[in-house]
Amino acid sequence: MNQAPVIGRFAPSPTGDLHFGSLVSAVGSFLEAKCAGGSWLLRVEDIDPPREVAGSAERIINDLLQLGMTPDGPVLYQSSRYDVYQQTVNSLLASGLAYPCACSRKDLPESGVYPGTCRNGIPPGKKPRSVRLNVKDDSCEFTDKIQGRVSDSPAGISGDFIIQRADGLFAYQLAVVVDDAFQGVTQVVRGADLLDSTSRQICLQKALGYPAPDYVHLPVAMSADGRKLGKRFQTDPVANKPPARSLELALLFLGQQPPANCSLDRLWNWALENWNSNLVPRKREIFPVREHSYFDWV
Ligand code: GLU
Repeated sequence: MNQAPVIGRFAPSPTGDLHFGSLVSAVGSFLEAKCAGGSWLLRVEDIDPPREVAGSAERIINDLLQLGMTPDGPVLYQSSRYDVYQQTVNSLLASGLAYPCACSRKDLPESGVYPGTCRNGIPPGKKPRSVRLNVKDDSCEFTDKIQGRVSDSPAGISGDFIIQRADGLFAYQLAVVVDDAFQGVTQVVRGADLLDSTSRQICLQKALGYPAPDYVHLPVAMSADGRKLGKRFQTDPVANKPPARSLELALLFLGQQPPANCSLDRLWNWALENWNSNLVPRKREIFPVREHSYFDWV
């Protein structure tokens, strides 16, 4: 456990409006930070322009404010940080912890695990395209507050993974690690769909000499047919529902027992006094059955 003052964050990608799945992460990260006497930051992860939906960053921020979640500091936009990401990639290349790779998608095995083809140099006649981190064969263990003890090996999940893409854009894994350290984040609360990324992020933190934050991976809201309730699928934007009802449903989803039908202010007062992470279901995924609080969302 980190002993420093708690700094939490919510880090949405602006690829669509705030939906129930991301609302759960926002509420969980906000309450974990605030109930520990800490602060809560907001970071817009706009590093992949082709996937962005125009105006969604502003709408997400506005929805969070309407819901009563105001960040403790200016919003950080990852699009303003390209120079820092480039310097970080360059320093990993210079220290030999990362290497240029000439492979394209069609050179990779079906498993998606990179076999290390360019680890010891680019094959003759090929040109560098992307940059990969050498994950070595390290296994990685950490304790997640909700999911318990996790033992993963980046070598088995992804192999040496991309930190800078062939199109020059920076990978999520790199940007998230650089910015969590830059913002002094001590606590990463997010959906358990990102649990598999965590060992890669810890690998990068070690390579860069950054401290590891605590991890809290919340269950992910699924659709009835087994897909993540995402921005593009079966979701009603949060903005279409009364804010108090949205918050109530998110709290119920997270295993809390909020009073029904009360005002947004009263609900926040209740949540800030009664948030109990021990009640969050110890699951990676939750499916919508009629008894579940978020059934009327989907
Ligand atoms: N930007 C990521 C997303 O919207 C979340 C990143 C994180 O919380 O680490 O899925």
